[in-house]
Amino acid sequence: MAEIAQIEAGARLTVDLGAIIANYRTLCARAPGAVCAPVVKADAYGLGAAGVVPALLEAGADTFFVAQLSEARELRALAPRAVIYVLNGLVPGSGTELAALDARPVLGAMEEVEEWAAFCSSTGKRHAAALQIDTGMNRLGLSAAEARALAGGNAGALDAIDLALVMSHFIASEIPGAESNGRQIAAFEALRAHFPGIPASMANSSGVFLDQKPHYDLVRPGYALYGGNPTPGEPNPMRAVVTLEARIARTRIAEAGESVGYDATWTAKRRSHLAIATLGYADGLPWTAAGGTAAGGTAAGGTAAALVAGRRCPIVGRISMDLFAIDVTDLGEGKVRRGDFAAVIAPDLTIDELARASGTIGYDVLTGLGQRCARAYLAAGRSFGAARQRG
Ligand SMILES: *Cc1c(COP(=O)(O)O)cnc(C)c1O
Repeated sequence: MAEIAQIEAGARLTVDLGAIIANYRTLCARAPGAVCAPVVKADAYGLGAAGVVPALLEAGADTFFVAQLSEARELRALAPRAVIYVLNGLVPGSGTELAALDARPVLGAMEEVEEWAAFCSSTGKRHAAALQIDTGMNRLGLSAAEARALAGGNAGALDAIDLALVMSHFIASEIPGAESNGRQIAAFEALRAHFPGIPASMANSSGVFLDQKPHYDLVRPGYALYGGNPTPGEPNPMRAVVTLEARIARTRIAEAGESVGYDATWTAKRRSHLAIATLGYADGLPWTAAGGTAAGGTAAGGTAAALVAGRRCPIVGRISMDLFAIDVTDLGEGKVRRGDFAAVIAPDLTIDELARASGTIGYDVLTGLGQRCARAYLAAGRSFGAARQRG
């Protein structure tokens, strides 16, 4: 099976579970005394919750965050005893479903608080939930005034609920000098004082690394677990997790003056050796990875690189849906053959680097990867699930 999947797929995505476990431990160590609760929304940032969650359980994680109810259901099957929070909150009428899964909504609007309180009253049980308070994102979360009024107890809604966590979310924690960090921390501290004795949470991956150490009782890292750099501009404190390699379908020569790919965005300046690799934007390689401009544009192209035979070579021409081209001229004759693999993400060719070259963020690249790659999960020197392909 593994063999067949490797042969049928144009590319392979390798997820190093040992590195995820190491990253989990690094994050725990950065926030001593706080619960380190992995965020595994969007199928563990695209890497496959079914592979990633067992590794995190093995590392000692017992509290997780997902975005929505369907993800909570999948996670519950993988983690029967874990505490599960649903970040997007309470979909109208979904109380019974959430309670059946023993999942906790992160209540992010007064209407949700009221519905959850009514649901609890109707079942005669104080079901657990988190409360999100907005400190600047203007996305989900109660306003400061709503949070104060709720804590003041005028509606009595809180009496019906088992309030297990009060949380907020940073708008720019990846920028350590951002003025918003201090402002949000101050706002959160003032508001959480209205909820004495309730555990508090503020930090995502980058928040864990802020000098102010806004760790409180629980931290919620996602991106850093999967190898993304939570401290942009500084060396990455995390271990690389993902390797993405494409098979080379063929090599060819482009003579000086000949163009490569759609819209002729790249023209060979010299007689060039090319490797054509079987991975494209349908697999999550950004269309913009090779200097993409609007269709019909004539950008020189080629800011992203691929690793071929251990060396960086420029990606040239438009990224196609299923293919891309690499200029391997500088490798010299005979170094690349049909059937070899070229990496676009590897320990020394990072997700953040590919994202930067593509004009996007690593989160976007990560969550878009591998719709039809053969996947392999590596753990402590052994590998499994090599045949697993995402449906
Ligand atoms: C996605 C998310 C996180 C995790 O963020 P990372 O930057 O990936 O660590 C934490 N908290 C909330 C509310 C989120 O939506």
